[in-house]
Amino acid sequence: MSVPNNLIEGLNFLRPRDKSGKHQKVTDYYGENTFDIQTAEEIPDSIKEEINEAIHSNSHISKAQAEIVAKAVTKWALDKGATHFCHWFQPLTGSTAEKHDAFLDFDYSTGRPIEKLSASQLIQGEPDASSFPNGGSRSTFEARGYTAWDLTSPMFLIGTGESKTLCIPTAFVSYHGEALDIKTPLLRSVSTLGESAKKFFHLTGETNVDRVIVTCGAEQEYFLVDKSYYNLREDLVMTGRTLFGAPSTKNQQLDDHYFGAINERVLAFMEELDYELHKLGIPAKTRHNEVAPGQFELAQIFRDANVSADNNHMVMATIENVAIRHGFVALLHEKPFAGINGSGKHLNWSLASDTGINLLDPGSEPHQNYRFLAFTSVVIAAVHRHAKLLRASIASHSNDHRLGANEAPPSIISVFTGSTIERIFKAIKEGEEFSPESQTILDLGAGALAKLPKDNTDRNRTSPFAFTGNKFEFRACGSDQSIGFPLTILNGAVTAVLDEANNLLEAKIRDGVSIDQALLDICHTFINESWDIIFNGDGYSQAWLEEAQKRGLPNLKTTADSLNVLVDREETAFLTKHGIYRESELDTRYNVLLETYITKRNIEFNTLSNMVNQLVIPAALNYKAKLTSSIAASKAIKVEASVEIEILKDLQFSLEAVFEQNRNLKNALAGLADVHDEEKVAHSLAYDLMPISEMIADHCGRLESIIPDDLWPVPTYFEMLFLI
Ligand code: ADP
Ligand code: MG
Repeated sequence: MSVPNNLIEGLNFLRPRDKSGKHQKVTDYYGENTFDIQTAEEIPDSIKEEINEAIHSNSHISKAQAEIVAKAVTKWALDKGATHFCHWFQPLTGSTAEKHDAFLDFDYSTGRPIEKLSASQLIQGEPDASSFPNGGSRSTFEARGYTAWDLTSPMFLIGTGESKTLCIPTAFVSYHGEALDIKTPLLRSVSTLGESAKKFFHLTGETNVDRVIVTCGAEQEYFLVDKSYYNLREDLVMTGRTLFGAPSTKNQQLDDHYFGAINERVLAFMEELDYELHKLGIPAKTRHNEVAPGQFELAQIFRDANVSADNNHMVMATIENVAIRHGFVALLHEKPFAGINGSGKHLNWSLASDTGINLLDPGSEPHQNYRFLAFTSVVIAAVHRHAKLLRASIASHSNDHRLGANEAPPSIISVFTGSTIERIFKAIKEGEEFSPESQTILDLGAGALAKLPKDNTDRNRTSPFAFTGNKFEFRACGSDQSIGFPLTILNGAVTAVLDEANNLLEAKIRDGVSIDQALLDICHTFINESWDIIFNGDGYSQAWLEEAQKRGLPNLKTTADSLNVLVDREETAFLTKHGIYRESELDTRYNVLLETYITKRNIEFNTLSNMVNQLVIPAALNYKAKLTSSIAASKAIKVEASVEIEILKDLQFSLEAVFEQNRNLKNALAGLADVHDEEKVAHSLAYDLMPISEMIADHCGRLESIIPDDLWPVPTYFEMLFLI
C-alpha cells in the first residue's frame, strides 16, 4: 500500500533552559513530578523518621501522620497545577487503573469551595471492584474493593498540558482482604524474602544487617511504527500485532540495527521520553536500537523491587504517550511482526542489605565467596524446584509467540551460570576437596570469581534465567507484562529454599561446623539437587530440547499448557505456606489468566477473519479481475498471455486456500462456543486454531507478494519497519 507516513519534518524535542538560557541538567528536574516523603520539605523530620520506622517494621502509620502527609502532598500538587488525585493500582488486567477525583470540596462552615485531600482519602479508596477481573473470587453482592495506600512507593503527577493529576500508588484488595491486584502479593513476597535474607546474613556473621531489599531493574523492549500506518491496520489496533505480512527483503539479517546510530526522529522521541521519566523520578539510564528494525530498548537503574515494578508500568505508559506526540505508536506486544525478533523484558534481580552488600556479588575474599556460592545455589535450587510456576508467571498469548521461537529463550526454564561458576559448582558437587582449608577451592574460588564479569559471554542471550555478574536476569518475561507477577513467584521460590538453607545453617553451626564449611555444605546439597537445571550451552538449539527432555525438565510450550500449575496445590504449597498467596488468590489468577488467553485469542482470530473477508479477498479478487480482463483482451487480439496466466494460477491457489482456511477457522471458533471446559478451549485455540490461523497468514503473505502494491489494502512490513 502506498500511504505517506506521518513524518513531522523537523520535529525535535526542546529541552528546558534555565533563566540564563543554558540547558537544564537532568539533576535540575529529576524527580520534580514525584513526591517523596523522605525528601519533602513540607514534612517535619520527626514525622519522616516515624514513617520510615513504620515502613521498615511493616506497620501502619497513624491518622495524624497521614494527615500531615496529605496536607503536604496537596500543597505540593496544587503548586504544580494539579486539579485531581487518584488511587493508582494494578488490577489483574496486567495494566494500571486510576479513577480521578477533584481536590474540590467545600468548607461547610462558610460554604466556600476549597481544595482538599483528607487523610482517609489518602489512605483508602473504594473503587467499584465488580468491573475488574476477579476470576470468580467474589460474588456480586460483595463487589466492594478497597485501594490502600502503598507508602513505600512515591506519589507522582501525571497529565498532559495544563492540568495534572496526583497518583497515589495503592494496593487493591477485596472486602475480605483478598488481593485483587499484582502489587499486594509482591509486597508480601518482598517482605518475607527480606526477612529470610536478613536471617541468612545474621547466620553468616553479618549481624549488623537490619534490612534486606529485593533489587530489580527492568529492561524494556518496544517497537515504534508511524501512526498513519498503525491506524490502517485493524490487527495492530485490535490485537497489538500484525496477523499477517510478507517479510521485507531486508530485515535483521545484516545485524545492522542493533546498537546502530539512532534515527533522528526516534532520538527526539527518546529524548522527550527520558525527560518525562526523569521528571517522574524514574532513573532511565540506557537507550539503544534493538536487533529488529524499528525496535528499541530502554533500561532503568535498578532499585527496590516494588518501586521498580511501579516504575516499569509508568515506563510503558510513558513510552506509549510520548510516542503519540511524535507521530508514532509504540508497540509493546511481544511479537508485533512475524519473521523478526519480538520484544521481551529482562527482569534483573538481586538482594541487597542496608549495609551495602549485594548477595549476588562475588567478593574478592574467600569467605564472601562461600556466602555468594551458597546463596547462588539457593537461587538455582529455587528455579529448579519451581520452574513450572516461573514458566506460568510469564505465560500469555503474546509471549507464546516469542518463547522458543529461536530469538528468545525457550519455554524450558534453565539457568545459565557461566563457565567459572559451573566449574566451581562441579568441584563442590563432586566433593573435590572443597573444604575451606584446601587451597583448591580458594584458588578456584576467589581468583576466578573476581574475574567473573569477563566470563559472561553473549551466550546467555539464549537462557531464560542467567547469572550476569552480580545479579540474575529473568530474560523470558514478556515486554507487555507487569513484572510484578514473575517477581512475586521468584521471590517466593527463593524464600522457600532460603528458609531451608537457614535451617540447615543453624543446625550445622549448632553442631560446631564453621560458617564457611556450613555454607559449602549447603551449596553441595542444593547444587546436587538442581544440577540438571544448569545449562550453559545454546538454548535455541534442537540438541537442547532433546537434552532437556532427557534431564526431565518441564517444557510447557504454550500458555494453555502452563496455567494449571497455578491450581496444582502441591506446586504452589510454598506460596501459601509463606503467606504470599492464598489458595483462593491463586485460583483467581488462574481463572483470570485463562479467560484472558481465551478472549485475546478469540479477538485475534475474529480480527484475522474480518481482515481476510474485508480486505485480503477483495484485493485478490480485484487483481484477479484485472488479470482475467488482461488475459481476455490479449486473447482477443491473439497475443500471448502466459505471464498473466501464471500469476493468476498462483493468485488463485492462495485465494482459495485463504478462503477455505478462513471458513475452517470460523467453523472451529463457532464449535468452541459450545465447549464449556475452559482448559479444553484454551488447548484447542493453541493447538487446533493457531495452526489454521498460521496457514491463513502464510497465504495472505503470498497474496501480498503477488498483488501490486497500489492494490494491497494495508501497510506492509517494509513501510512500517523502514519508513520511520
Ligand atoms: P544488559 O543489556 O547487558 O543486560 P543493561 O545495562 O542494559 O545490561 O541492563 C542491566 C540492568 O540490570 C539495569 O537495569 C541495571 O540497573 C540492572 N542491575 C544492575 N545491577 C543490579 C542488581 N544488583 N540488582 C538488580 N538489578 C540490577
Ligand atoms: Mg539484559
